[in-house]
Amino acid sequence: MDISANDIRQVMIDISKMLENNLDYLTELDAKIGDGDHGINMTNGFRKIREKLEQGKIDDIGEILITTGKVLLNEIGGAMGPLYGGGFVKAGTVLKGKTSMDKHDIATMFSEFLGSVKSLGGAKVGDKTMVDTLEPFVISLKDQVESKELAEAFQVALIEAKKGMESTKDMVSHIGRSSRLLERSKGHLDVGSVSSYLILETFAKHLA
Ligand code: ADP
Ligand code: MG
Repeated sequence: MDISANDIRQVMIDISKMLENNLDYLTELDAKIGDGDHGINMTNGFRKIREKLEQGKIDDIGEILITTGKVLLNEIGGAMGPLYGGGFVKAGTVLKGKTSMDKHDIATMFSEFLGSVKSLGGAKVGDKTMVDTLEPFVISLKDQVESKELAEAFQVALIEAKKGMESTKDMVSHIGRSSRLLERSKGHLDVGSVSSYLILETFAKHLA
């Protein structure tokens, strides 16, 4: 099964709706060990992306991803703007010119996204960030697409993403705002790992 530009556009719109539904939850999580702005930043960002994508049909998947990334980079505050924004721009740059993606392209998209987040933010697994969700997901997806169809491969990788997200609860934060709390950051999920998981889950729902 190939993924079209229209699928990607629809997923971005679905993510926007999903974030509206999870605004209070993300705000609550960020308020515990951060400053409480994550939900509103993400929701505002994807609302703008949705408005942009609804204006006209873009056939180039790379361009959709770059447009998405630029809105986040230019219009969103907090750590999320550069991290999520840079990730989408990097993924879009690599996929530029494609009007459909196969399962290997999808794995490349997430792998490039993760690579950008890691090189910009410097976080590694165990630091209590979105990387704890994304890295196990990408490793599993790359492996799974070798032998499985996309939807099934994605489901397996999503389980690893969930485990990664849940693992942040018992971690002490080593990076970002929550790291200022030292040991007191323990006992709470990292909000970026949760929003990343919810975004991957939204993708999975579209593929299913
Ligand atoms: P801020 O911390 O500036 O308020 P947000 O609330 O939008 O930014 O996002 C916080 C999330 O960003 C954290 O939960 C974490 O997952 C992620 N994060 C912060 N710094 C980094 C980093 N250097 N690398 C990867 N992720 C990071
Ligand atoms: Mg915050």
